[in-house]
Amino acid sequence: MITIDGSEGEGGGQVLRYSAALSLMTGEPFTITNIRGGREKPGLMRQHLTSLEAACSIGNAEASGLAVGSSEVTFRPGSVTPGEYHFAVGTAGATGLVLQTILVPLMLADGPSRVVIEGGTHAIAAPPFEFLAHTLLPVIDKMGPRISAKLDRHGFFPRGGGRIVVDFEPAPLRAVELTERGEYVSGGAEAIIAGIPFEVAERELSAMRKVLADWPKEAFTSRQLSADEGPGNALIATARFEHVTEVMSGFGKLGLPAEKIGKTTAARMKGYLVSGAFAGPYLQDQLLLPLALARGGAFTTVKLSQHTRTAMGLIESFTGTRFRTGEREDKKLLVEIER
Ligand code: ATP
Repeated sequence: MITIDGSEGEGGGQVLRYSAALSLMTGEPFTITNIRGGREKPGLMRQHLTSLEAACSIGNAEASGLAVGSSEVTFRPGSVTPGEYHFAVGTAGATGLVLQTILVPLMLADGPSRVVIEGGTHAIAAPPFEFLAHTLLPVIDKMGPRISAKLDRHGFFPRGGGRIVVDFEPAPLRAVELTERGEYVSGGAEAIIAGIPFEVAERELSAMRKVLADWPKEAFTSRQLSADEGPGNALIATARFEHVTEVMSGFGKLGLPAEKIGKTTAARMKGYLVSGAFAGPYLQDQLLLPLALARGGAFTTVKLSQHTRTAMGLIESFTGTRFRTGEREDKKLLVEIER
């Protein structure tokens, strides 16, 4: 039984999700105390609860302490069973984070699965659908398992109501070297709006153009969804390279000027573009678990995030796998899995 202090490191929901995934993969039960102790409102929220419930369903696990507000959970894994599953967060809690919990167990299960997840698809501090579909899943594809995701309906904060469908074709994980992004192919940004004034999209894109001045004018587009998918707004910047596509995102929020969202999202993309690294700041922590289970591989990346450091610690506790990090001669940060 592994005991985890949920307030340590990043101190948020990621600790729970990665612990549940690791527990299902290793068969090791765990207890987590001080859940989300690093957050202003600690304890389990709806989104985290759905993630743990999803882990229990796919992994025939037993858990105690599963309630909104709970600060301690004990999780005892069973065996992972592929199949058809449906999980609904019930709020705008992120579908991408529920997926984060069950992704690796189902990609290594002994049969295909189809999972429908309802909740937020474009919400702050979580992977938006485009990041899953264009960044994360294609990298997993290089490692063996085939996972495809489809967006049925957008879900924005605070209303939620989005829906994604994810199909898994498992295969053993191959260790891969994700060190070179390859030739630049294209870059573009899309402002998505639903049920809010169109000028918001125009203001966001015009702020972006000032930062990403090398991208042609036609690379900045907007898309209006039907008002009943909103209200909501997301800004998705995509850079395609030969070996990787990175997505940086921003989300509209009442009181936050459109120009600021545009500028921040564009600056995040610019930071990634000049870094020359394979993985941006969010792909980083999401690559660790598959690589650790592949028992090898490496990636170049930008400065390590606190999420990444925390995930490294958890992976080491459950599997004994360690990570080596260091600067290469070309100044790019290299993360390697120690065999
Ligand atoms: P809490 O509510 O406790 O802050 P949480 O469960 O909502 O927690 P975190 O623990 O902060 O979330 O974990 C967020 C996860 O989402 C991390 O894996 C991070 O890499 C990923 N993530 C956050 N923002 C983005 C983004 N813009 N694009 C892709 N992935 C993202």
